[in-house]
Formats: sequence, structure tokens, C-alpha cells
Amino acid sequence: MSAKYIFFTGGVVSSVGKGVTAAALGRCLKERGFNVIVQKLDPYINVDPGTMSPYQHGEVFVLDDGAETDLDLGHYERFIDISLNRVCNVTTGQVYAEVIGKERRGDYLGGTIQVIPHITNEIKRRIGQAAKATDAEIVLVEIGGTVGDIESLPFLEALRQMRSDLGRENSIYIHVTWLPYIGATGELKTKPTQHSVRELRSIGISPDVIVARSDYPINDDLCSKIALFCDVERRAVVSLVTAPVRYEVPLVLEQLGLAEYVLGRMGLQSRCHPDWSEWERLVQEMKRPKPKVKIALVGKYVELHDAYFSVREALTHAGLAAGVEVEIGWVHSSDLEKDKGWDIVLQADGVLVPGGFGSRGTEGKIRAIRYARENKVPYLGLCLGMQLMVVEFARHLFGSDEPNSTEFSRSTQHPVIDLMPDQRSIADMGGTMRLGLYPCVLQPGTRSAAAYAKSMVQERHRHRFELNNAYREMFVKGGMIFSGLSPDGRLVEIVELTDHPFMVATQFHPEFLSRPNRPHPLFRAFLEAVSKRAGLSEKDA
Ligand code: GLN
Repeated sequence: MSAKYIFFTGGVVSSVGKGVTAAALGRCLKERGFNVIVQKLDPYINVDPGTMSPYQHGEVFVLDDGAETDLDLGHYERFIDISLNRVCNVTTGQVYAEVIGKERRGDYLGGTIQVIPHITNEIKRRIGQAAKATDAEIVLVEIGGTVGDIESLPFLEALRQMRSDLGRENSIYIHVTWLPYIGATGELKTKPTQHSVRELRSIGISPDVIVARSDYPINDDLCSKIALFCDVERRAVVSLVTAPVRYEVPLVLEQLGLAEYVLGRMGLQSRCHPDWSEWERLVQEMKRPKPKVKIALVGKYVELHDAYFSVREALTHAGLAAGVEVEIGWVHSSDLEKDKGWDIVLQADGVLVPGGFGSRGTEGKIRAIRYARENKVPYLGLCLGMQLMVVEFARHLFGSDEPNSTEFSRSTQHPVIDLMPDQRSIADMGGTMRLGLYPCVLQPGTRSAAAYAKSMVQERHRHRFELNNAYREMFVKGGMIFSGLSPDGRLVEIVELTDHPFMVATQFHPEFLSRPNRPHPLFRAFLEAVSKRAGLSEKDA
């Protein structure tokens, strides 16, 4: 069968949980035996978010194939438990780059290149490509931004055209909106939703389903009113009140019957009865009060928690497995340099330094790492967090602050972290790092090998710098183990310290592969060490 499409547009305001809604519906459909994928269309002109500041965009989520994508792809992968492909994130930048490239080659010789049809055709081609590249039967497509944004107009026009290209039974339009709450009268308002649907109609798209989001319960009359004013069936108005636990959303959509409704509209029937038992257990476990452990997350972009989305999720997943609730203490690394923020580090049962770029705050991170090493506090370092653990250890061995990464000091006498050789000739910043899945061979007898219980793993990467092999011998003598290496032995993937309860750091980003039901082994091992430090026995947890 050719693929069926479910298009998600957003109304009223952004950040209402369109991505989670799409991911949750995707899960409901997968539970019914369908092969689904989710694609995100982002209206910005960057080719991908890889060059954007996390302050602007939140985390950059990396896929197996090395695509640097929107963090919504992380929701899709975690909720549906799938691995997505680079065709699943399309940006205006990619679309224009393709069309302009063709124009320069002369592919359109004689033609005037216009938004309609050239840009819209390219958008449609990319939407079609997602199903072809993945064999998906149902493609859920989320359009970034809110209806009414100038930037998203070509995407919406492409979607409008797709209804006649695909036919009614092969496409569903879901509009996710927000009902504001007026405190003075204690009411939820539907008017902005009505306006937003009118705006969508003026573009030529009539939504089939309205998902009304709110922080407050939405009564039946309100849903009927939305149905009446927005011209959708009453059954097609779904009220989605903010769930205390994000992972509850698939269960809520299940109860509301959205998957059945959508399948019915597309002339499909469930292939099997959904089995939510594992998912229900997971949500129950998330809600159950558990003993708390404190992790100090020492980063550069901590004001914006979205910048570390997958790290947070991976900690939550591992917390479920370890039977503890993780409380993250957000520490601004440059504060530590000014002797601020140390109270959070000192009270923490574990320290985590995530990935990052640029020199701001690196000395603060190094100080936190030193504290963790000297005080035997469990430590997990991710990418930059590994590189700085190596720098800190070198400074300790040399008894000097000279060792550094050449990312932060080009002229250091001890470049213990250095640019990878194949990066030296690269001038472009976008999409040129060592990206995506690479194998890592685990050294038997190490903490990492024990955590994974495997001899070889594949992990996702995003870096330009690496441990300088000229210093390996010195590190080993000093008590560092290289517990993970590339298969040719050339690149250090995981380091750990012998004389420490848990000081482990990875060149890759384990957080991207963590799933709620399959916590990442290293996060899990970290939390076990953290729980021990917090004085929690297996029984308490
Ligand atoms: N800036 C470092 C590098 O490029 C670390 C990257 C990261 O933490 N993702 O190698």
C-alpha cells in the first residue's frame, strides 16, 4: 500500500506540545501494528540546527546517520521506539539549497523559479521521500511554528496541495491549539482556536481533527463549541490537558480514541489489540514517590533546560530502573569560576558534565570535575564532559594548569585533546563534525564493559576533537583506563578512572539512545553509583 499521511499544524501559540502529541499518536498507531515514522518540517532558513546556539533552538538531536536535527525527533524516537533517518527533518534551508543548486546546474533552464510550484514541489518531494526511504505505512508530519507565521506558508501550501494529490482517505489534518485560561472569570477560551482554524481555512486547509490543549480540564460543552465553530465532528475534538508526566500522553490519546478515529478516517483497521501493559507500568513507576538523588548538571546553557533535553530524559529513564527520582541541580559552569553555585555541587550525589562548544565556562567545568575526582563523587562526562575530564586529569598528573584542549588554547604545550586529523582541512562549520553512529569496542574487565555486558556497541557522535594519543601511556600509568576504543584502536571512546567509585566519560552521546523502557547502560551504572553515594541501598530504591 502507498503511505498514508497525518499532518500536524499548530495554532494560537507555539510550545503547546505538538511534537509530543505527534509522537504519542505515532505510538498508538505502532501499537496497532503499523509501521510509522514522524517527519518534522522546520520553517527556518538554516540547513539544520547544527549551527544554531542552543539558546535559540534547544538541543541538537543526532540520528544514527549523523543528521543534526530538531529535538522533537528525540520525542519521536523515545515515544515510538524507532530510529529515524535524516529525511525526517526538513528545513526551509534544505529546500532552497536544493532548488537553487538545480537552478545553477541549469535543470530549469528557461524557467522562472518561484515559491509555487518549485519550492512547494521540493517540499512535497521531501515529504514523499520519507516514506520511500523507510518503508513507513503511515507518515506523521509535523509543521514547526504556528499557523499565521510567514515562514511556514510554503509548507502549508504544499500540504494543501497534497490533499488532492493523495486523496481524502490518505491524508488527515490535525490542528493542535491552545485554550487560554482567564483567571478572573475562571474560564477557558475557544476564540483563539476559532481564529486559528479560520486562518488555516484561508490557506485552503480544513482540519479533520482538533487537539485542544490546556492546563485546565476542558468540559464537554467547550468541545462541542469547538466542533460547531470549527466545523469538525464532535468526536474529532480531542481535549488534551497537560499531563503531569509527558509519557502519559499516549495513554490519554488511547482513552480519547484518537488512533481509532484517525484509522477509521483513512479506511484502515487496527491489526492488533494495543498492549499498553509495559507503558502503563512505566508511567505508574514515574508517578510513584521514590527516594531522591541529586545530580549537579554543570553546563553552559543551563538557563534553558531544553538545551539538555535528552540528558534529562536519559537520567529519568535510568532513575526508573534504579528506583530513584533524579533531582537535577542546574549549575552554570561560569558561576563556578566566580566561586558561585558551589552549594549545588557540594550537595549533589553525582556530577554530570554534558556536551558543549566554545571556551566560556570550561574552567568552571574543570573545577567541578576536579572536585568529583578528589572527593570520589560519581561522575559522568558526555563528549565535552569527557574531554574536560581528560584535561583535568592531565593537569593533575602534570601538577600544572598548562594541559588543555586545542579548542580552548591553540598554543598549549600539552594539547591532550586535539582536533581530529581528518578535521584539519575542514573550513565549513555546518554538518562537518564526526557525526552519527560509530562502533566502540569495550575493554573486558572495565566498568563500562560490565555496564553494557557486551563487547561492542554502536553509539551516536558529534565532535571535532579527540584524545591525543601521544599522551595515552602517561594517562594509563596515572590510573586512567581507556575502556572503549574504535575498532582500529586509534580513537578513545570511553575513559574511566581506576581509583574512583565511578568516574566514566564518553566521547559519544549515550543520551540519544536511551529509551524509557531501555535506559542507557552507562546512565544506569552512573545512577547506581549515585544511589550508593546517597546512602540508598537496593532495598530503599
Ligand atoms: N567541542 C567538542 C568537540 O567538538 C565537544 C563536542 C560536544 O560536546 N558535542 O569535540
